Amino acid sequence: MQEMILCKLGEVVLKGLNRRSFEDKLISNLRRRVSKCGNYRVYSKQSTVYVEPAGDDCDLNAAFDACRQVFGVVSVSRALPCGKDVRAIIETAKTYLSGELSTAKSFKVESKRADKTFPLTSIQLSQQVGGALHQAFPNLAVDVHEPELTVFLEIRDDAAFVHGPAFAGAGGLPLGMGGSAVTLLSGGIDSPVSSWMMAKRGVALEAVHFFSPPYTSEAAKEKVLRLAKELTPWCGRMRVQIVPFTEIQEEIRRKAPEDFFTLIMRRFMMRIAQLCAEELGAKAIVTGECLGQVASQTMEALRCTEDVVSLPVLRPLIGMDKEEIVRLSRKIGTFDTSILPYEDCCTVFTPRHPKTKPHLDEVRAVEAALDAGALCAKAMAGREFVRIKL
Ligand code: ATP
Ligand code: MG
Repeated sequence: MQEMILCKLGEVVLKGLNRRSFEDKLISNLRRRVSKCGNYRVYSKQSTVYVEPAGDDCDLNAAFDACRQVFGVVSVSRALPCGKDVRAIIETAKTYLSGELSTAKSFKVESKRADKTFPLTSIQLSQQVGGALHQAFPNLAVDVHEPELTVFLEIRDDAAFVHGPAFAGAGGLPLGMGGSAVTLLSGGIDSPVSSWMMAKRGVALEAVHFFSPPYTSEAAKEKVLRLAKELTPWCGRMRVQIVPFTEIQEEIRRKAPEDFFTLIMRRFMMRIAQLCAEELGAKAIVTGECLGQVASQTMEALRCTEDVVSLPVLRPLIGMDKEEIVRLSRKIGTFDTSILPYEDCCTVFTPRHPKTKPHLDEVRAVEAALDAGALCAKAMAGREFVRIKL
């Protein structure tokens, strides 16, 4: 019998009618993800999804890592099936977990019996296997409260399973369960993290990036596409819409007082994001804004930027410190790319004294000199669409 991967589902959403659709979505997401690592059978039983090799070309290590990046999975472990008798279970545990058993200081055995015809109770099984392992590995003390290692046994209809240690999964909800949104992706540290956070809540994402050649370079655009690529193990395949933004920025520079540049530019980003969302049927706009981080992220400024859209603007980083954002960025694997030097359209024409407490009426009045509808329509028409594969 061969080793397989077991993914535990989140508990909270498993209640009631949600359960079926939650599981179906999770299984199809897992299936797609592990298909890059060989042929697998993916199926669920009792709040666990089994990822079982179905060929010789399976890279189980890669599949294991992939499973840990699938939202909706709270923990991942490996397991080796064996015959349903105590002797076979003991021998399997000894060899399969020999590394863990010979280094841990304390352990316990926990058993679960789905097959009620199995002759021993769960407690008896744990005691017998625990006793044998204790004898075979003198380094191990029994500790039923806080053991370093828990050897988990399961007796199912088709086989007994010896589990390896459980590792944390990505948590959250399966991608797609939370609807879809447009995420504003720049080349910075914040927006890949805000995208990841919403994907974690099950939101499927389409990225929108504003690009201002010749003020921003081809390299800056490539960097954003690379960030999107680095998000795919978590967020799945993604499309990035590259929106030409130069003309809008130049028009703002011509028509608006300098201290309003950034604010009006951000209003244009939001308008275009909403147009993209409407086109897709997406239900929200995601940004990496964080309260007080820069002048355009004060409460007054945020009020002015969201004034031009009716969709909810989701800002998952709003209450986080930069250090917390950086920590997450390292964890998800986008940090090293984010800190590569680059220009963003936000850093072009930055005012020397941006308004931190803008008044909405004033901003609207200043902006009236621009033909927002026509400028947005032209930018929309000039978009480039890039598909980022998993
Ligand atoms: P980040 O690290 O994400 O670039 P930031 O701290 O530099 O964020 P801003 O430049 O003010 O903050 O941008 C705030 C948010 O606006 C970003 O997190 C992102 O969601 C969006 N944004 C900024 N520039 C762009 C761009 N060129 N294309 C798409 N979205 C952008
Ligand atoms: Mg930025």
